Amino acid sequence: MSAAIIDGKAIADDLRAAIATEVAAIATRDGLQPGLAVVLVGSDPASEVYVGSKARQTVAVGMRSFEHRLPADVSEAELLALVATLNEDDAVDGILVQLPLPAHIDSNRVIEAINPDKDVDGFHPVNAGRLLIGLPGLVACTPLGSLLLVRTVHPDLSGLSAVVIGRSNIVGKPLAQLLLQYNATVTIAHSRTHDLPSVCRSADIVVAAVGRPEFVRGDWIKPGATVIDVGINRLPPKAGETKGRLVGDVAFEEVRAVAGAITPVPGGVGPMTIACLLRNTLQAFKARRGVAKF
Ligand code: NAD
Repeated sequence: MSAAIIDGKAIADDLRAAIATEVAAIATRDGLQPGLAVVLVGSDPASEVYVGSKARQTVAVGMRSFEHRLPADVSEAELLALVATLNEDDAVDGILVQLPLPAHIDSNRVIEAINPDKDVDGFHPVNAGRLLIGLPGLVACTPLGSLLLVRTVHPDLSGLSAVVIGRSNIVGKPLAQLLLQYNATVTIAHSRTHDLPSVCRSADIVVAAVGRPEFVRGDWIKPGATVIDVGINRLPPKAGETKGRLVGDVAFEEVRAVAGAITPVPGGVGPMTIACLLRNTLQAFKARRGVAKF
């Protein structure tokens, strides 16, 4: 058996097309345009790439993109002042401060300064709390994208068991909450879990958000299970390569031979993250303007 490939790129393309259609309808009907502000501190090359593609995709769906680039030595007070300005700016529906921030800046303080109703990254404690108790709110983009991919295979998660490997605040925990909200029976596994392979073997859905290349092996997977690989890891370059290969947290070929469906890396969860950022921006716009409740 060879697993079906869950084509995150195509699913993200469809999601962006649906968002673009709705944004165009809003422009025609109301003469309004949702806006996303992205703040980048310093010049980390990976962050530069992310911020660049966020801006391009924002404009491509018809939204306004506001980019704010601050030097690496900007003070926390200056960054907080910018966040306060964006909170007040009526043209800005979503605010994203690209992480990681330089060590002299307290990321939690910055996240908590963002108006929760503009917190399109879904990292503010108010949005984390809303998710926990099942209130509508803005949900972190990578977990939301992962859930949408799971639901392309399992529209109804009732009665299914899911194991999420990883308990970070930005992926593992919110994704476990989302799966629970959709009635899966959820286990959160982490670095202190005993006998992880047999924990995984019990699951209908395995999500890997660990940050270790090709960590999840074929013999950990129940035949026919759905496997979502959140990991993005760059292997060291082999002789003759300039850049190492990009791999996930799942040993793709091994797991593919056993699973029922699997996301590839690249082309799985990755493309969903920015598409969900745009989805959140549209959702924040609609909630702020009273077009629709979250
Ligand atoms: P993190 O380092 O914050 O968390 C990793 C988690 O893995 C921890 O909770 C830890 O308990 C668990 N873990 C570590 N070693 C383990 C082990 N041996 N056994 C079981 N669990 C173990 O990482 P993160 O921010 O949650 O990211 C996880 C992965 O997802 C990374 O590869 C990251 O690059 C990727 N990621 C991808 C996207 C995307 O857009 N696709 C977004 C965010 C993160």
